[in-house]
Amino acid sequence: MRLSRFMLPTLKENPAEASIVSHRLMLRAGMVRQHASGIYNWLPLGLKVLRRIETIVREEQDRTGALEILMPTIQSAEPWKESGRYDDYGKEMLRIVDRHEVDLLYGPTHEEVVTDIFRKNVGSYKSLPMNMYQIQWKFRDEVRPRFGVMRGREFLMKDAYSFDTSYEAAKHAYNKMFVAYLRTYERMGLKAIPMAADTGPIGGKLSHEFIILAETGESAVYCHKGLLEKPVPKDVDYDADLQPIIDDWTSLYAATDEMHVEGHGVPEGDLVSARGIEVGHIFHFGTKYSDPMGATVTLPDGTNAPVYMGSYGIGVSRLAGAIIEASHDDNGIIWPKEVAPFAAGLVNLKSGNAETDAVCADIYDRFLAHGSEVLYDDTDERAGAKFANMDLIGLPWQIIVGPKGVAKGLVELKNRATGERDELSLDAALQKVLG
Ligand code: ATP
Ligand code: MG
Repeated sequence: MRLSRFMLPTLKENPAEASIVSHRLMLRAGMVRQHASGIYNWLPLGLKVLRRIETIVREEQDRTGALEILMPTIQSAEPWKESGRYDDYGKEMLRIVDRHEVDLLYGPTHEEVVTDIFRKNVGSYKSLPMNMYQIQWKFRDEVRPRFGVMRGREFLMKDAYSFDTSYEAAKHAYNKMFVAYLRTYERMGLKAIPMAADTGPIGGKLSHEFIILAETGESAVYCHKGLLEKPVPKDVDYDADLQPIIDDWTSLYAATDEMHVEGHGVPEGDLVSARGIEVGHIFHFGTKYSDPMGATVTLPDGTNAPVYMGSYGIGVSRLAGAIIEASHDDNGIIWPKEVAPFAAGLVNLKSGNAETDAVCADIYDRFLAHGSEVLYDDTDERAGAKFANMDLIGLPWQIIVGPKGVAKGLVELKNRATGERDELSLDAALQKVLG
């Protein structure tokens, strides 16, 4: 992409409305703009990041055998009346009445809709286990939308729903999501801590929040430092018994403010006390919706039984902010490679100069040929401004092309995370970025 053809409304000054670093940087880097309170436009740079986060989430869900579907944002109130949540949900639900006086709502979550799909389309134990997921916009009329996309009213969530014939089978479905979540966050360069969460009146122990540490997090977190060092499972066989992995991860102490207790047994030197951002939540709730909504399956003995269900959320749009909270410096964002909007930035120090223009055009084409994309600053801004902009938007590498280097057959390669700069041949530089 040529910067002269792109839309990148960067800001030099910190916007007054942004109180935390990710919100400031998302506005300054021209990623998002607020449309209305808690409702955002995703501009080209921001949307690229959002799509890359989605891709990682989707790949790790698919790996578990979950099936991607897409449910509507606007839902009928009917199934919510059946489950009893139409009255219980409260003011966070945006209710809509259409021209025929039919009650609709903008979905804050999709348990009712997915249970309705299940009861109308799946009838036998032979179809189970089953997990259906989607990546879809939600609306919750939050009392205090804040921190930009981190607590919006409209936000993008990955929500998965599992269906099983027994508690034991449902627990395996839960364990699969647990492991998939660890892998998903790691691929984004994040260390997520699974933390036992309140299951409310349903009881049972199968509820975990996934929290990443960040100074600006909304929740207080206490955990054993071992959780931050634990390697995430590689090459997982999702059909195998995952319980040992779960037991290993949940044996170390982790608690939020309310659950933090005296006598937790962690030696002072091993206890991390920090702030955290919730980036995911997994939850087993048994027959809470299948019972009232009549979602049953026929068992091998011919009887009918309600299905055991769980739901599993990841805050996709919140993650764009959370990753920045975890990875930035005074000059701007530092994108982990896997979610970066472009593989590299290309800075032409002398746009209009025949030699530097030709080298830049060559680099540009070689990225495309490789199936990758570079953001080429082909504008006639001064060098200082180009560098500041590149640092702000945080692409992992900057390839800097000036007349002096070109005369020697060299370009400069800057690593955004370390600040290291090297003079290299073009081939060596491309090898480092693309190789
Ligand atoms: P929170 O306690 O932060 O309000 P929640 O318990 O309401 O979260 P869930 O219903 O479990 O959240 O939703 C799944 C995920 O969706 C959360 O873990 C979070 O990452 C994300 N999420 C929830 N509410 C918002 C919001 N208002 N803006 C952006 N992301 C959100
Ligand atoms: Mg909430």
